[in-house]
This record gives sequence, C-alpha cells and structure tokens, in this order.
Amino acid sequence: MDFENFRRILVLYVGGTIGMKKNCYDVLEAAHNDFRAKIKSSSSLHDSKWARENLHGKLKENQMILPQSGNGQKILYEIIEYTPLLDSSNMTLKDWIRIAKDIEFYYHNYNGFIVLHGTDTLAYTASALSFMLNGLQKTVIVTGSQIPIFESRSDANNNFFGSLYICGSFTIPEVCVFFSNKLFRGNRVAKVCTEDLYAFDSPNYPALAHVGVGIKVHEYFIRKIDYAEKFSVYTDLNPHVAVIEFFPTITAEMLSAFLTIPKLQGVVIQSFGTGNIPSKLDLLEVLGAAVARCILIVNITISAKGAVSMSYATGKVLQDIGVISGEDLTVEAALAKLCYVLGLPGLTFEERKEAMRTDLRGEMTIQKYEEIK
Ligand code: ASP
Repeated sequence: MDFENFRRILVLYVGGTIGMKKNCYDVLEAAHNDFRAKIKSSSSLHDSKWARENLHGKLKENQMILPQSGNGQKILYEIIEYTPLLDSSNMTLKDWIRIAKDIEFYYHNYNGFIVLHGTDTLAYTASALSFMLNGLQKTVIVTGSQIPIFESRSDANNNFFGSLYICGSFTIPEVCVFFSNKLFRGNRVAKVCTEDLYAFDSPNYPALAHVGVGIKVHEYFIRKIDYAEKFSVYTDLNPHVAVIEFFPTITAEMLSAFLTIPKLQGVVIQSFGTGNIPSKLDLLEVLGAAVARCILIVNITISAKGAVSMSYATGKVLQDIGVISGEDLTVEAALAKLCYVLGLPGLTFEERKEAMRTDLRGEMTIQKYEEIK
C-alpha cells in the first residue's frame, strides 16, 4: 500500500514532559522508547481496528492511523524519537537547527510536521523555526503538555490529537503552536503559566484556530502562501546574542560590563512600559557606544502584552542613538530574529538593522508613530 490517499504527518519527538516518567528520585525525566507504544495502545490516537480491517498488516511498526479523518482523508503519522530526548531547558541553538534540518530532509514526503517539545523553551524553538523555514507551504505545529501522557489525567492526548487533526485537515503554512485548544502563530507565543493547562498565550496576535465542539480556523489571521518563494532552510544562526532586562537600579557600569561581553553582536533590551529607560546620560552613552561598535540592539517592552512606541521622551532617546524598535515582538521572537538576521550572509550593519525593522514572518506588528517635536 502506498498510502496515496492518506494525509501523512511526521512527528519529531524531541522531548519534554509529554513523554516523561518519574524516576527513582520521584522527579520527571525522559523515558526512552515508551512513547510510541503508549500511543499505539491509545484508542483515541491510533485506530488499530480500522488498520487491521483495511490495511491487512501493511502498516509498518512506526505508522499510526488517527481515528478521525480530516476532510475525508485518513491521517497517517509516523514518529521519530530523538536521542537523547531533551528537557527543553537544556536545548540550544544547535537543537533548533537539528529540527529545521529534519523538516527540510523530510519536507517532500509529508503533508505536515509536528514537533513534540518541552514547554519551558518551546516559544524560542517555535520562533527560531519560523525564521529558519523560509517559504514554508506546509503546516508545522509545535506542541507538548504540562502532564505526561503516561498519567491517567493529562493534557497530552488533547494537545497531541488536536495537533494531528489540524495538521492533517488543513494547510496552515506557518510554524504554529497548539496548546489547550488554541492554535497560535509560533513566533507570537510566550509561556504564561506553569500550573494551568493553559500554558501558552499569544499576547499581541489573535489565535489562528480554536478547537471547541467544532474547529474554527481563522483564515484572515493566517499568512498566505507565497508560491513564488521556494522552500529553503536557513541554519546559519548567529549565537552571539543576549537579552538584558532593565531595572530601576541599573548602572552604566553594569550595562557596560554586559555590552562588552566578547563576541557579542546583538542584544535585546527589555525596557519599561512602552519602551522607556531611565534618562541618564551615562546609560545612553554606554548604549550609543555599543551601537557605534556595530552591536545590533533591539528594544522591546518588559510588559507581558503591548508594544514599544516613541510616545515618551525616555523612549525616543533610544531611537535617536540607533536602537531599533522591536514593536510588539516577544522576547523569544526578538532573540531568535537577531540570531537569524545576524547570521544572514553579506549584509551591512545598516541592512541588518533594516531587516530587524521589517516584519519577516508575521512576528511583529509595525506601527507608524507621529514624530515627537
Ligand atoms: N522541563 C520541561 C521541558 O521544558 C517542562 C515541560 O515540558 O513542560 O522540557
């Protein structure tokens, strides 16, 4: 059987709570080789009866059939388990690159991709993937869970099933995050809660789809496929980037120590409210000197929701010394975008600044401000 009439999904199981079990110290850690067996034994995630009756033993060990069809087509999925499985707190830029390369390698064999991932740094990975996967024409969904799938009460089934069903039924050509019945744009999410099952939110951009009694896909908010653009994966990310959050007692000495870290090339600063920092000349001098050394500095707000603007003099000064407005970027998207933009070959410092100011993957909302006289 060539499964021609099936929608095929590849699941990259990277790690995270979703597949963890308690060890002898009563703490959660990755359980290798158990996840697939658990999925196969779950009637809500694998239709073994249908497979037996219709596929007559042609389903491979690693292939599963989702019990519900998407748009009349059966959804077949396969799982690749990473070794080692990762707690996402241990993940680095190299792991983002590995995922992107796997998607590139299998891109033409599947209709969509799911990345099973820990929740702690999921927003960073989703943001990084959104920049690395250029000209994406298929759905990529990153998901995980707050409670392992092996526990009797868990959000894992719902998150995994919802991701498979959406991925198998619709073409949403974006890197998305599905969690707690909502599909978000991946470079817009932040982990907002460690306790509720509603762990993620997209503070500055609406959900792309809602799962309730039915599934509502909000086409209007989804990026349109640019058929002229060929799918390509860009993996030369620049690791020399960092984040600094402003606080009222910050001194020029502290800021200078940070901005003179060897090899540093890009910095996200998280400023107060709509993008303000203390109006102290010495702080501005340190920032201005860093820009003069061609360190790309992007300003975003510490606030959980909203954007930076030039509505206050305390914010306008940053623009005047060459700090770029990150508008309503999340910190995760701002950092990933810097890694991407600073890794692009052959650009001048001014061109990189311009790229940071440009909305590349729907990651930020560009606003126009009145000049402050
Ligand atoms: N520490 C885990 C991780 O990020 C938490 C989770 O998956 O929810 O891998």
